[in-house]
Amino acid sequence: MTNHTAQHNGYIGGELLPGIAEIASIVSGSSYVVGMTGAGMSVESGIPPFRGADGLWTKYGNPSMDGYSQFKKNPDDWWNRRTNDKIDAHIIELRDALLNAKPHAGHYALVGLEQRGALQSVITQNIDALDEKAGLQNLIEIHGNRTKLRCIECGDRVSLGDFVPMYAPDPCTHCNGLVKFDTVMFGEPISEDVMAASRSEIDKADCVLAIGTSATVRPASGLLWIAQKAGATIIEINPTETKLTPLCEVSLRSTAGSVLPLLLEALSA
Ligand SMILES: [Zn+2]
Repeated sequence: MTNHTAQHNGYIGGELLPGIAEIASIVSGSSYVVGMTGAGMSVESGIPPFRGADGLWTKYGNPSMDGYSQFKKNPDDWWNRRTNDKIDAHIIELRDALLNAKPHAGHYALVGLEQRGALQSVITQNIDALDEKAGLQNLIEIHGNRTKLRCIECGDRVSLGDFVPMYAPDPCTHCNGLVKFDTVMFGEPISEDVMAASRSEIDKADCVLAIGTSATVRPASGLLWIAQKAGATIIEINPTETKLTPLCEVSLRSTAGSVLPLLLEALSA
């Protein structure tokens, strides 16, 4: 296991760090590379994380863990509170950050890797829709996408673009089912189609890039252990050490925005 612990921007004395060359060599020697991205990727776009020292929950306190059952019990009440801004302060701060967020160099580098055929898919825990905005094609959003609505009965998804509704949407046009934001709430099961698609990508992967994920939130974190047990090489790109670090062939202590463009450059050379 190589652990490049120094915080850096990918270069030392004008030379590309050995860690980048090592990752490039592993990626180019792999036949199916899957990216798994977490909150760190969003933080680089100015979106505050939930957990950790600067996390929203640290600042405002933990949210209620039964959001989904509250919503299902009384969806009108849920939407009324939203319409009248009677929602948690952390949700308002998050909503404002999401409205202003733009993809960063790391998001665009993932698109570049995908276009080169060096990256087959990305499974993200983020709900910010920035991967989609950057132009990534093969994307699984395990916790949903804040710019979509989803029917909880038939799973039909509708894209909203930049329009964020403040009022309860009409029932599903296909099945008359209850429609909510695609974003997965506390206590809400992850859609079966999303779990099956994620598992299928992980089963095909011989290399997984774990980017900005602390690998603590299930079920996404479990996928990394499954991949490693099945023999995939795990590469970590994260400014801090995580529970995942001991599983990784290479751990690079840096941000996605620094490392991924250099990886793309190294593979294009
Ligand atoms: Zn439906």
